[in-house]
Amino acid sequence: MNRLRIRRGKGIHLSVIFTAVVVLSVTLTAALNTIVGFEAQKDSLSTNTLELNQITANELSVAVDTIFGSMTQSLNSASAHFSNAENRGRQASAWLDLVRGSTSFFNSLALSDENGKVTAASPDNGDLVGHVLKSAAAKQALTERKPLVSEPYVAVTSRLIVLVSQPIFDKDGTYRGFISGTIYLHDNNVLQKILGKQESNLNGSYYYVVDHMGNIIYHPDKDRIGDNVASNPAVAEIMAGKGGHMKIVNTKGIPMLAGYAIVPSVQWGIVSQTPTATVTDSVRGIVARMALVSMPFILLLALLVIGVSHRLAFPLRRLAVYASLLNKGETEMEKVPVLRMRHHLIYEANELNRAVIDAFRVMGDRTEALSLEAHTDALTGLHNRRFFDSLLASWDRQQMPYAVILMDLDRFKSVNDTFGHLKGDEVLRFLAARLNVAKRDGDYACRYGGEEFVLLLPFGDKELAFRLAESVRIGLMKADSPIGRPVTLSLGIAAFPQDGASSAEVVHCADLALYRAKEEGRNRTATYRGETADV
Ligand code: GH3
Ligand code: MG
Ligand code: MG
Repeated sequence: MNRLRIRRGKGIHLSVIFTAVVVLSVTLTAALNTIVGFEAQKDSLSTNTLELNQITANELSVAVDTIFGSMTQSLNSASAHFSNAENRGRQASAWLDLVRGSTSFFNSLALSDENGKVTAASPDNGDLVGHVLKSAAAKQALTERKPLVSEPYVAVTSRLIVLVSQPIFDKDGTYRGFISGTIYLHDNNVLQKILGKQESNLNGSYYYVVDHMGNIIYHPDKDRIGDNVASNPAVAEIMAGKGGHMKIVNTKGIPMLAGYAIVPSVQWGIVSQTPTATVTDSVRGIVARMALVSMPFILLLALLVIGVSHRLAFPLRRLAVYASLLNKGETEMEKVPVLRMRHHLIYEANELNRAVIDAFRVMGDRTEALSLEAHTDALTGLHNRRFFDSLLASWDRQQMPYAVILMDLDRFKSVNDTFGHLKGDEVLRFLAARLNVAKRDGDYACRYGGEEFVLLLPFGDKELAFRLAESVRIGLMKADSPIGRPVTLSLGIAAFPQDGASSAEVVHCADLALYRAKEEGRNRTATYRGETADV
């Protein structure tokens, strides 16, 4: 026979699967939220930072532009002053000192004639006055005769400087040279005064100034001043005359969020930038804090889920237990007292529950019917020999005391012969009915063989058995049987534990007693007295 075999004790509990699935989805959702949150935060913070850097660059450009306006004005008024030939005389240096001291825009000021020869200087170190300026910036000032701001260059003093110059014309418009102010890029200068030292900026942000060629004019790292960074994409934009913001990788290979703006008066540019890593770190911090804050809720949710999944899996788990009981043969409802109709939230659980209860009931009924059938004698309705044997086997195990009455109809063969087999059957049923009436509640009446019967008396002794046997025998002897006249019985009695150590021995003793009853003339009861088969 093919049997569906399912290995027992294997497999994962439903509640574990429920829990795992939900915990997994909660974890995945949380992880996804974290990732999406991280990206969104990073994007928004990056955009904010870019915009903030652009604002900073704009503000600084306004500041630098204003300063340059003032510088130009100051040089303008100096130029106007020196348009008067008298003023270009001996007092010129003192005047330059005054201008330099009162404005502190320039590190040095010089007055040059139309040939580029310095006629006055502040500070007057004595090494400049009388010399002809040879720098490209000076030459340009002489040839172009208009206000100029030079590119950074290394002056004769070995200083990196920017030269700002203003031409001087006298009243009749004759060119008289120029007044020039220098900014020493590596020293304390006006730019550093405006733009500050930037040391307090902890998040790594900084700004720098480039000229229209991409040369660094101002940088918090002084070593960078004078470098050309035209390859930097933000600087390239500045050189193209544009302001804005963008993500860039700076010349050192560090990703930056840069805002940049043009200083209109000089076509310089200001780049304010923050390392991208700063934003990423701070977002990571925010997300970590968010995760920490939401952790108790996730844990609470997980606990809730575990509880709910246990609750959901409970009816199915119970059914599984019942089904395994069923498998062990516990088909009777009373042996499975926990299996009662209970209402569950889940429709399928209710249906399954109902189905299992019905299965129990049907199987119980059927088994009961089968076991009754298996243990009942079809002709008389008494217990059959199989029942008799299994009952005694169980009493043997329990060492149960009892008495046994073995009976055999007298001369039954002749009843059959005379009245026919069917009549004989009727007599057997007749006797069976009388046995059922005569026995006590709790005694067992069985059909032992063809026309042999037996009464089992739990806790009964031979004396009690004898009285019962005699009442059966005498009653039968006096009754009209189906054949129209009385039939008689011979009976043999034995008891456990007096007559034997096992039911087989005790029944054998009863058989011996019955044999004696037959021997002694039939229609009598004999109690086992220790005789042997050959007595
Ligand atoms: P004894 O007094 O020595 O017991 O004589 P007896 O004729 O009863 O002898 P025995 O017990 O050997 O005979 C049993 C007879 O019972 C034989 C058989 O015809 C009859 N018998 C056995 N089973 C049935 C049955 O189911 N129905 C009928 N009608 N007769 C049966
Ligand atoms: Mg017989
Ligand atoms: Mg007989």
